[in-house]
Parts: sequence; C-alpha cells; structure tokens
Amino acid sequence: MKNPLVILVGLVFLCIFVPVVVSTTLYDDVEASNQSDEINIEKQNENESKELINYESVDKDAPTIKVYNHIKGISESMNIETYLYGVLAGEMSAKFDIEALKAQAIAARTFVIYKKENPNSSGHKNSVVCTDYKHCQEYKSYETLKETNGSQWMEEYYTKIKEAVDSTKGQILVYNNKAILPLYFSTSSGKTENSEEVFSNQYPYLKSVDSPYDGESPKYTSQITMSKSEFINVITKNYPSITLNSNSLESNIKILSRSEGGSVSEIKVGNKELTGVNIRSIFNLNSANFEIKFNDDDVIFNIKGYGHGVGMSQWGAQGMAEEGFLYYEILKHYYTGTDIKDLY
Ligand SMILES: [Zn+2]
Repeated sequence: MKNPLVILVGLVFLCIFVPVVVSTTLYDDVEASNQSDEINIEKQNENESKELINYESVDKDAPTIKVYNHIKGISESMNIETYLYGVLAGEMSAKFDIEALKAQAIAARTFVIYKKENPNSSGHKNSVVCTDYKHCQEYKSYETLKETNGSQWMEEYYTKIKEAVDSTKGQILVYNNKAILPLYFSTSSGKTENSEEVFSNQYPYLKSVDSPYDGESPKYTSQITMSKSEFINVITKNYPSITLNSNSLESNIKILSRSEGGSVSEIKVGNKELTGVNIRSIFNLNSANFEIKFNDDDVIFNIKGYGHGVGMSQWGAQGMAEEGFLYYEILKHYYTGTDIKDLY
C-alpha cells in the first residue's frame, strides 16, 4: 500500500509541472509559428522579385554567336557570356557599383539577342555583332585587358565584371516578350530623351524619364568657348549656303525648340534651320543639350550630359545603384514598360 504522503507530493508535483510543460510547449509553438511567418514574408518578397524578373529557372548553356572582329577583320565564334565580359569591360568602368554593372550586362546581352532576332538591323553579313563601339558595342579581349590594365586590375576588376555577367546569366530585357533595342549612353542632363526626338524611330520603351542621379559624372556639364570667327568658319564649312557675320551673330542664332529631355530640337542659324544634333556633330559637343552665350569676341556653349540621351544613362544607373536601387529597378526605370526574362 502506498504512503498517502507520496501520493500527495505526487499530485502537487503534477499540478505544478504539467501546466509549466504545457505552457512552455505552447509558447514554443507560438514562437515557432511566428518564425515561420517571418520566413513566409521573406519568401513572399523573394517571389515578388522573382515575378518582377520573370525567372523561368532555366539553366541551359549560353548560345555561341559570330562576332566580327573589326581590328582583325575576321568573324570569330564566341560564347555570348564570354563575349559579354569583354563588352562590359569596354562599355562601363569596372569601378562602378555591381548593380550598375549588372544592369549594363543585361543591356549588352539584350543588344546581342535583339541583333540576333532582327538580322536585317545587324549590318554584318555573317556575324551577329561586331567589336566596333561606333557600330555595335565596345569589346576588349581578356588578353587586351590584361596587357593594358595589368594583373592586379584583372584580379580585382575582371572578377567583378565576371560576377556581374555570371550572376545575370541569360537575362534580357523584353517588351511584349521580345528583346528590346537597349540603347544606352554616358550621362544624362537630368532627363533622358524620347527616341523619336533624337533618331527617326519611335520605341515604346525608349521614353523620356527623369534621371536624377547623374551628378557624379565628370561630364555632367561642360563648356566650349571659341572665337566668333571660328564659329562662323565651322558653320559655313558645313553649311555653305549660310551667311553670318560676327557683328550681327547673336541676333542670327536662335534656339527655336527643345525636346522633352531638354535637347535642342530646332535652331535658327542665319537663314537656315538646323537641328541640335547637327550642331552637336559639327562642333563636337558632348550632347545636343546646350545653351549658346555670346560676349564681345567669343561664342560659349554650355552643355549638359554626354551622349545621345536615349535609354539608360550609365552614370544615372551608377547614381541609382549608390542610392540602393537594384539592377532590375534601374533597368525598369530607364526602359519603360519592360520585363526581365531569363533565356538560358
Ligand atoms: Zn557592328
């Protein structure tokens, strides 16, 4: 027969112990479910960004393309991604933020796919792209980069370039599920340009947008001063039908209209109307976004930005990256209405 005291102690023990165990377990459960809530929120965010990027979780080998080497004068077969290392190294400073470099890598990759899908626009008989920056995109081979920059640069910056290309492997910009023409340029004036106001073609994704973070660019503003006679010489050399003289110069030059992005559209020069692009080209200005001032002897151009102004501003992308924007946010900002698609 058991001692009633033992039974009593046992009951007291149970009364204290069981509720503690139960409440601890419940508390643990609550904590656990809170944790899983947190994980769910993180996962939701991840999914949101995946939807934004439109990943298709494909992991195929990158295609090989023919690249026309304009220096050697031959077409070479290259893996797209390897070709892109050389483009990124040529087109953007490797000192830029990794997110800006990733945005540039996707723009450069999209350019290749666009040329592939629109062979009539390529301008090369047997190649998708060429290595001439004036025609397609700048390209610098591994050997050239090592030779010009040295092995320390290669270790630090070629690795960074590779990371930007590798981490966005296969991703391109699409509009209506088709590769876009991803124009880009160095520095905006604070706003980009509508494509149709600079080039003849209109593209729904190359629209004028604000570009507020270009201020760090060394070419954000520039100035060119020349004598009035020099100015007149350049004009009449290129447009012989225009007559100007230095005494009445100021009253014979008038900016008539500007684009949405701020560039000069029409400018009256003597008896003729020219475009801002005409003036940019003959005076070698950084952009067509300029003002003209006159003093007694000289003509002064005050210029904003560098490049044609259409699509992504590289310095603007760098500024956005420094502000904490991610590569797909940068791309979606500059290329209106586009999505990122993972091709391979
Ligand atoms: Zn080309």
